[in-house]
Amino acid sequence: MGGPLLNTIAQGHAFMQFVDGRAVDALSGERIDVICPSDGAVFASIPASGAADVDRAVKSARKAFDEGPWSTMPAVERGRCLTRLYQIVEKNADELAALESRDTGKPARQGRADVTATMRYYEFYGGAADKVHGDTIPFLEGYTALTLREPHGVVAGIIPWNYPMQILSRVVGAALAMGNTLVVKPAEDASLSTIRIAELALEAGVPPGVFNVITGYGRDAGAALSAHSEIDYVTFTGSPLTGTAIQQAAAVNNRGVTMELGGKSPQIVFADADIEAALPVLINAIIQNGGQTCSAGSRVLIERPIYEQVAAALAERFSRLVAGPHYADLDLGPLINGRQRDRVANMVAAAQEAGAQVLAQGTIDPAAPSSGCYHAPVLFGSVDPSIQLAQEEVFGPVLALLPFDNEQDAVRIANSTEFGLVAGVWTRDGARQHRVAKRVRAGQVFVNGYGAGGGIELPFGGFKKSGHGREKGFEALFDMSATKTIVFNHQ
Ligand code: ADP
Repeated sequence: MGGPLLNTIAQGHAFMQFVDGRAVDALSGERIDVICPSDGAVFASIPASGAADVDRAVKSARKAFDEGPWSTMPAVERGRCLTRLYQIVEKNADELAALESRDTGKPARQGRADVTATMRYYEFYGGAADKVHGDTIPFLEGYTALTLREPHGVVAGIIPWNYPMQILSRVVGAALAMGNTLVVKPAEDASLSTIRIAELALEAGVPPGVFNVITGYGRDAGAALSAHSEIDYVTFTGSPLTGTAIQQAAAVNNRGVTMELGGKSPQIVFADADIEAALPVLINAIIQNGGQTCSAGSRVLIERPIYEQVAAALAERFSRLVAGPHYADLDLGPLINGRQRDRVANMVAAAQEAGAQVLAQGTIDPAAPSSGCYHAPVLFGSVDPSIQLAQEEVFGPVLALLPFDNEQDAVRIANSTEFGLVAGVWTRDGARQHRVAKRVRAGQVFVNGYGAGGGIELPFGGFKKSGHGREKGFEALFDMSATKTIVFNHQ
């Protein structure tokens, strides 16, 4: 770890938020402590914003949108700006990775992976900005009809704490490429990389007011932002309950929303699968980021003839997993905070009470500070598909194994939750790959692989309670814009 910023934050740095291109404090002067989940120590602070701060930021974004030049400049110029941001992020990669790891407790290599994904977002959307075009539509004789993709205007982005920099960047990349301006509210538990990226965006030439950052609690700053009448569109990634609250707030102004609300994603392992190839992927899909991943593969459905064999192999691997501080770079880090750790512990206890069998547990590194928010990984076997563990998102390193009898049974169990975000299908049978991929209700299906959060080019989003709208890839550019139809009468 190194770099000037990291040395400053070691001394309790007071971070600022960004409004109209300037680093500003909350109008009230109130602050929120920044706590490292690896040791529970306070190492910095961020502004605790309220409705007045949100109003100031929205007005700045409104002015920047209405007066330009961001919304009116040639798309290629916006793209160049995002490409410069990609290059600047690359130059600052080590510092950003260390900052993200310290703020969230994620292992150092996960912090680096998150920066790589962040860079890809700006590279991708920088290149895509001038590739979005409308249609001409065959219409009545004597008329010409065409469509334009126009920005919504001011977009509010409400960001969670699990992959703060990546999720921020998929919002910023797509929204800015289309000519919107932004007010972003990162999570109170993980705001630092957002603040830093906003600073770097100014360096890349994003004009003041185009990308504003408001830090603060969800119930204050988040609620005020989603209800603000001058916001044109809201994009949110987080828990289903908060998603409902945000949609209700945005509905008062009849504004559009994109919602990415988590999942209970199944991986289906058929008896003919390449088990050796599947095992590390099945483990990684739940252990990555301590299981705090919307698209975590938190249920593994195993065809009965190979159930015992796969369960034993997973148990053996699970028992070797070790959680520890971010700087130790072990299999997984701590959870984001004590509340989240307690929630995971309660769900583990409830699963045991409901009759699920603990097959294996990992360990917590003895050198991990006892003041950190650790929870050892837990593997449950023979899980009844109807219990809470099989139905609800744990958002922790807890994997449920469920046996199934045949293809139909597998699809039924896979689709038996209220969620529909991602699925994995493991089989060598080509026809079955296609059948199951089509019948599983999920926004992304991986066949003989799995990418928890992977692939910035791939459209991502859910069915059912997992939300609506699509982020990532080219498709996000459609969510971040609206179609205008123009009809010329030249009779
Ligand atoms: P958690 O409960 O684990 O903190 P959330 O889904 O509530 O997860 O948080 C995701 C983001 O939503 C954070 O930025 C948080 O501050 C914000 N948030 C929480 N509650 C609200 C709310 N009522 N209105 C708007 N944003 C909120």
